[in-house]
Amino acid sequence: MKHTNRDVHTADVVVIGAGPGGSAAAKNCAQRGLRTLLLEKAKPPRYKSCLRRFPDNMTRTLVAREFGPTPDWVLTDPPHIYYLARGMKPTEYGHEPQEEPQLCPHMFSTECDYWMNLKAKSAGAELWDETLVTDVIQEGDGVIVKISRRGENQEIHAGFVVGADGAMSTIRRRLYPDLKFHTLASIQEFYPAALSPLDRKYAYTFEFDAPQKDMFHIVHKKGCFHIDVDASARSVKESADLAKQTMYKMFGFNPETKPMWSAGTTMVLLLDEVLSGRLIPAKGNVLLVGNAAGLVKPSDVGRVGNAKIWFGGGGVGLAVKSGIMAAEAISKAIDTSKDAAGIYLPDFENIVSVLKDIAANKVYYKQGNWKDHDKFLNKLI
Ligand SMILES: Cc1cc2nc3c(=O)[nH]c(=O)nc-3n(C[C@H](O)[C@H](O)[C@H](O)COP(=O)(O)OP(=O)(O)OC[C@H]3O[C@@H](n4cnc5c(N)ncnc54)[C@H](O)[C@@H]3O)c2cc1C
Repeated sequence: MKHTNRDVHTADVVVIGAGPGGSAAAKNCAQRGLRTLLLEKAKPPRYKSCLRRFPDNMTRTLVAREFGPTPDWVLTDPPHIYYLARGMKPTEYGHEPQEEPQLCPHMFSTECDYWMNLKAKSAGAELWDETLVTDVIQEGDGVIVKISRRGENQEIHAGFVVGADGAMSTIRRRLYPDLKFHTLASIQEFYPAALSPLDRKYAYTFEFDAPQKDMFHIVHKKGCFHIDVDASARSVKESADLAKQTMYKMFGFNPETKPMWSAGTTMVLLLDEVLSGRLIPAKGNVLLVGNAAGLVKPSDVGRVGNAKIWFGGGGVGLAVKSGIMAAEAISKAIDTSKDAAGIYLPDFENIVSVLKDIAANKVYYKQGNWKDHDKFLNKLI
């Protein structure tokens, strides 16, 4: 990376956020010979609250094509995902757990993201960790990226910026300061593996009784298992308590057990903005990808307070896809001296039209009919 003075740096492309979308964008930009800087506020491998299941073929195919065969250290213990409804025992569920195809199986999110970071680095992207982006300012043909790096305020002058900074994106807020959206909370609680009352061969998903549609999941990992709770119908604490009560009733798990540690995250509900075109994820030479662009697969219409809105999930494939598209748009913008946004947005519209088809056909992956998703999502491969 070129240094103009101690606090000002230059790059062809600055990618903000080292999740799947940022790694895909940075890797593809670097492969195209662009001087690419990947900025991450945390220190990878960083914790990420995500189940990292890839039930759809598009996600498995794009991840495998972009990043190659998944190393063992990235994979979770169970090769199966087992869906259960509340109140049922595994033996009552009525069919065998679905075996995930081996092309790109169930992963640990922290390790998966780190693996993708390493791939971006080996393609030539430079990764700056512990670097918080505080602002982006479009000026002339370029973009000034303001950062706080290990306690020092600095600037990067870039030709292009990819905002891959996740659900609570600073870059999206900079482009759309007035954009309003709902959020949901989710929490993961980690317990020692020895306390698990479940068969560690499987990962489990439970759904609470209708109409309260919250879900919880149990995943076994290395020396521990975690209970992962989404909350919309109630507070996250009430959902977590209910999950543990369900675990007690069904499997005898002591609900008073203290977790070894727990972590919460905020899920942003932007699908209505994406599907309606109210969120336009690019301006000039700043492009948003992945969760920053509101990309998740539509799953269900739900309520938050009085609002009835689209819920979604499973965004890794869409983050990778949009990251690749952003790199392509930047490369074409350089060749044609056009704004990257004008090239990126029509491609982004293709993703939106697939998501609209899924929404219109009400293909609820919450009900486990993942295969139905493939006929829509395969158009993005
Ligand atoms: C509970 C839960 C379960 C999920 N399960 C699945 C699943 O099973 N399968 C699936 O496909 N998807 C799942 N998802 C969704 C998936 O995690 C996201 O769609 C995916 O991580 C989006 O990738 P991304 O690269 O856009 O953003 P992220 O992975 O969120 O990465 C954003 C990165 O930007 C960094 N960052 C943020 N702000 C700044 C800043 N100002 N400066 C520098 N860096 C910054 C963050 O630290 C982070 O590393 C789940 C999500 C949740 C919350």
